Amino acid sequence: MTIGVRREILKGLKRVVIKVGSSIIAKRVKGKAGVANGLSVSSISLLAQTVLQIIDRGCEVVLVSSGAIMAGRERLDLHQTELSIPEKQACAAIGQSYLMHTYEKQFEKHGFKVAQILLSHDDLENRKRFLNAKHTLETLLEYRVVPIINENDSVTVDEIKIGDNDTLSATVTCLINAQLLIIFSDVDGLYSRDPSIKKGQLDDPLEVVEHVDCITEKIKKLAGGTNSIITVGGMHTKVLAAKQTMSFGIPTLIVNGFDNNIADKIFEGESVGTLFWAGHDKIKKRKHWIAYTLKPCGKVTVDLGAGKAILARGKSLLPAGIIKVEGKFEFGNTVRVIDVTGTEIARGLVNYSFRDLKRIMGMKTGAVRKIFGESFYKEVIHRDDLVVL
Ligand code: GLU
Repeated sequence: MTIGVRREILKGLKRVVIKVGSSIIAKRVKGKAGVANGLSVSSISLLAQTVLQIIDRGCEVVLVSSGAIMAGRERLDLHQTELSIPEKQACAAIGQSYLMHTYEKQFEKHGFKVAQILLSHDDLENRKRFLNAKHTLETLLEYRVVPIINENDSVTVDEIKIGDNDTLSATVTCLINAQLLIIFSDVDGLYSRDPSIKKGQLDDPLEVVEHVDCITEKIKKLAGGTNSIITVGGMHTKVLAAKQTMSFGIPTLIVNGFDNNIADKIFEGESVGTLFWAGHDKIKKRKHWIAYTLKPCGKVTVDLGAGKAILARGKSLLPAGIIKVEGKFEFGNTVRVIDVTGTEIARGLVNYSFRDLKRIMGMKTGAVRKIFGESFYKEVIHRDDLVVL
């Protein structure tokens, strides 16, 4: 079944985002990936060839590449040291130019130019800057230049960071309406069970899940974290990235980035890696922006009735259904909507600050009107500003 699905995706392919983690372009020691040993020029050269094979097949390609911090560590000879945030930021500043210089040299050999775009969460949260970034990327693609994106690590601190490049690549995929996100991982895809359990200890054979059409709790459990000092996230953030593109109707493919023939395998429709796709259904652009680009500033917990009204009946969130308010948010901020089991069920833009909401939570509409007069809002989050997750 997955081969048919893959062929269907390939038919409409015009624009692809490829995400490459640091371990894919790191030097390997004794064949081992993910070792903090600096940037590998030969891996970047192979990667450039893979990108060009995809361009040759008629697709525009945007690359999202990590590796700045790793390259900076190498330049400063700080290979295995634990770094503080400012030290990592300094490494990113040093390493980013070296990373780009290496990419530039490798693409130039084939007559291609590259362009650097550094993004932070702030750039994507502001709708105007979000659109500016989109227009720049589209113009670069018109010029047949390969845009190479990374997070602007040297000027971002935790609160304004996107955090990991898996999430960044999913946001970029949706931003430029690409038809596929390919994540180059250091493993073959999402495994059907914990790969660290050795052969023979379990009856279950270790397999790569070919197709995921819904991110269930089981799928989330299959995606672990990472312990490496040079990579961020691991499979967990890749699955979240896939969830983000899927909600926009765009497939994500997680493949082994060390496979030099991966472009051919993908474009011949072979069932390599794990494909995440549920079909073309998508949430509207603005709702996607609310759910995935804006950073939530707080949480509201809702009672059983309000939870059902949101999930099953497509209703707005009213003050009466709220039982708890957490975090410091103002009018217009994004908040998470949590049900009584602690699960996040929705996200939306609030019409009240956390202070006002603490006063009115649990109240009926009439009582709220008495407090705020005619300028009150009936809904805490209007349905149009609410995205069910
Ligand atoms: N932006 C970081 C870097 O270039 C990496 C973040 C990530 O790999 O997710 O080193």
